[in-house]
Amino acid sequence: MSTQPSFADNPSNESRDPAYFGYYAMLQHQQNMLHDTVRTSTYRNAILLNTECFEDKLVMDVGAGSGILSYFAVQAGAKKVYAVEASDMALKMKKLVKAASLPNAKNEFLKDRVEVIQAKIEDSSVKAPKVDTIISEPIGVLLVHERMIESFIYARDTFLKPGGHLFPNKGTMYLAPFTDALLFTETMGKARFWEQTTFHGVDLSPLYPDAKAEMFGMPVVGHFDPKSLLATPTSDAEGYEMDFNTITMKSLRDFVVPISWKAQYTGLMHGVAGWFDLLFSGNTESEASQPVEMSTGPSAEKTHWQQVRFMFREPLAVNAGQVIRGWMHCVVNDMRSYTVDIEVIVGQYGELSDPNQPFEPLLEQQAKRHTRTTEEAQGEEEEEEEDDLQFSRRRGRWELHEQSYNYSYTGSSNDMLTKPEHLCMYEPENVEDAYGGITYTV
Ligand code: SAH
Repeated sequence: MSTQPSFADNPSNESRDPAYFGYYAMLQHQQNMLHDTVRTSTYRNAILLNTECFEDKLVMDVGAGSGILSYFAVQAGAKKVYAVEASDMALKMKKLVKAASLPNAKNEFLKDRVEVIQAKIEDSSVKAPKVDTIISEPIGVLLVHERMIESFIYARDTFLKPGGHLFPNKGTMYLAPFTDALLFTETMGKARFWEQTTFHGVDLSPLYPDAKAEMFGMPVVGHFDPKSLLATPTSDAEGYEMDFNTITMKSLRDFVVPISWKAQYTGLMHGVAGWFDLLFSGNTESEASQPVEMSTGPSAEKTHWQQVRFMFREPLAVNAGQVIRGWMHCVVNDMRSYTVDIEVIVGQYGELSDPNQPFEPLLEQQAKRHTRTTEEAQGEEEEEEEDDLQFSRRRGRWELHEQSYNYSYTGSSNDMLTKPEHLCMYEPENVEDAYGGITYTV
């Protein structure tokens, strides 16, 4: 699909390593993650409630950072934890672990239990035996940003004993249509700067279309009001599952998430919102296992991952009860992230394009059509039908690493008073018609 297929076939992460590991070498950034109580206590619960996977076991912590997950594993009775960390945070971790051997050390429980290995997990220098359990927090925005799940999977294939356990063992991505007129207006406001024709005597307007493409091409990271969803995934709705036990490197690097929603309100769809859940099943073959789940959805307790929104350059009008079909195609890039293409069609007519075909945003397509010569324009009548369909179709491309932030939603008690119509979402008269919710098809 990529305009640079050879690049996208297997773009590497390496060029980003200095910046990436430089970031994680700083305590303040480790602290930021430790502070995320939902995240840190979910991991702690998952580990301490499933001691069966840790007691007297060999454990590997992939991307150990400050080492917090290794320490939890020791608390759960691990015989030995191999803590692999590529950044200089490994030195800090060594310091903490070494201090456990001092007389009267508070961390005495860590003594001789943690071996810190400063290396990328992929390096052949990593000398560790096969382990019973691998723990890792390789999760980024929309689950996959940072491409660290690839390292987790590499560790699975290289260091996990057959029948061993992964913590977490599953991630599920959810997508939903949202409305947010204010966010749209703010984004247009940024782009419209380039509409000026007399900026200090200079006409900036030739760059306006580029500005619009850039501003809208940035995924918006932040929390938003769950009420702004035009269709809400319910707990029984299926998301797009990534089973870390079985997922292949190939399917992690290029995947398509099918979209099928039924609008619950009449309103303007400004784009697609996304988030994820994590699952720690423990030992599924044992009755003692206690699965632990964590959601980063807009209705769940806030986490540092927040949610992400992909905003269309032009909103899409939807009626309550209408189906919205489409796909999201994610392909890795060499920025430790993904290029995300999305197409949706509202209503039952019209064929979705093939997500694996080379991608061209609709606006560019239309612009080309407008500049055709008369000769080329012959036969355009046949395309009228297709043109008509363009009114109900939206398509866009976003680079997941080019994130912009929006923190306007506070989740305060005032939000309780917000009704759908305050968000320009209108309930159908016959509610039963529209409350089909959300379904995912494969
Ligand atoms: N496990 C810690 C830190 C998670 S952040 C916690 O839960 O708080 C991810 C960490 O993985 C970072 O410290 C980063 O430097 C490290 N990391 C990322 N990719 C890695 C790789 N390929 N090999 C080793 N460490 C890696």
